[in-house]
Amino acid sequence: MQYRPLGKTGLKISALAMGCMRLPADDPELAAQIVDQCIANGVNYFETTRFYIDGKCQHLTAPGLKGRSKGLIVSGKAGVGPDTTADSYREEIDLQMKILGVDYLEFFQVGWFSLDKLEMLTKKGGALEALDKARSEGIIGHIGFTGHDTAENFTKVIETGIFDSLTIPYNLVERRFAPTIKRAGELGVGVIAMCPVAGGVLASPSPRIQELIPGGANTTTSIALRFVLANPDVSCACSGMNTLQQLEQNLETVNSFQGMTREDHDRIDRVLDDFAAMEGKVCTGCRYCMDCPHGVDIPNMFRIYNFAKIYGLHEWAKAEYATVDESTRASACVRCGECEPKCPNGVPIMDQLEEVDRMFG
Ligand code: SF4
Ligand code: SF4
Repeated sequence: MQYRPLGKTGLKISALAMGCMRLPADDPELAAQIVDQCIANGVNYFETTRFYIDGKCQHLTAPGLKGRSKGLIVSGKAGVGPDTTADSYREEIDLQMKILGVDYLEFFQVGWFSLDKLEMLTKKGGALEALDKARSEGIIGHIGFTGHDTAENFTKVIETGIFDSLTIPYNLVERRFAPTIKRAGELGVGVIAMCPVAGGVLASPSPRIQELIPGGANTTTSIALRFVLANPDVSCACSGMNTLQQLEQNLETVNSFQGMTREDHDRIDRVLDDFAAMEGKVCTGCRYCMDCPHGVDIPNMFRIYNFAKIYGLHEWAKAEYATVDESTRASACVRCGECEPKCPNGVPIMDQLEEVDRMFG
């Protein structure tokens, strides 16, 4: 296992980290085995919260950690709202530690965070006071955050100096946080890259992606993981794994991976931008065109379409389209024209939907 610095915390984090949000809900024995095998294979970071898997995430993680959490980086996580106080947040930290069966958490993360919640976090008598106190008492080691906001806003959040790490999605098909990641590197804030294989999408073959690295023997997944880890400002790739086979495959990729050079990484970045540019007017998923009066889930149709057209993930796209409810598919479009004037990107929605139907219908 390769270990990398986690910002300026002084911690070394495993290149592959375990997101416990996908542990198998109905199979505690398998969940314990997965955690056990992670530890046995050198994975040292486990991201947990009480709020995943219908409240079962930390219960499922705890047995595998039992008696072995020393030296591991285990994180808990809770959000902040207008009514969160230092007392309520501290109760939450204590509760999560109790469920996990630990008396120390290397990280506690402010979850589901965004710039507009900064005031809620930092107000007098608010959650940040609880976090600072827990840290000074030696109950937690570091403070991180995770969430969904714009790259610009998350850059502002890390520039406050409050956080030691941020956890954000970053992969071949989701690169919008690249400027935030670069700034995190400059500031010494650790970056935990979520969804390195885009929630499984990049487990599907794509000749277009596989050809990005000469040599022939590359799978889409291995290029995806290598791409994430080739960014020197990324500390680790955190993957939610729910089978031993998935864990084994990811371990094999990370352990056998010859690092990708920074030059190759940047070249791939540029090529992917060019792929998107070649497609002309591309849907960015803003949803301004919704709701369609005839039920078409327009952004979802174009998400599938873009993965196929831009990234060559045709097999995945075909299989994904087959799972979509027929009433929301491209074929339900009657060309009423209501949506197109609402699109800020000028996507020719009706024509593109016709193409989606032709490709996958
Ligand atoms: S043109 Fe098609 S997708 Fe757009 S609003 Fe009308 S039916 Fe819906
Ligand atoms: S408004 Fe345009 S860019 Fe936004 S979701 Fe609809 S089609 Fe996509």
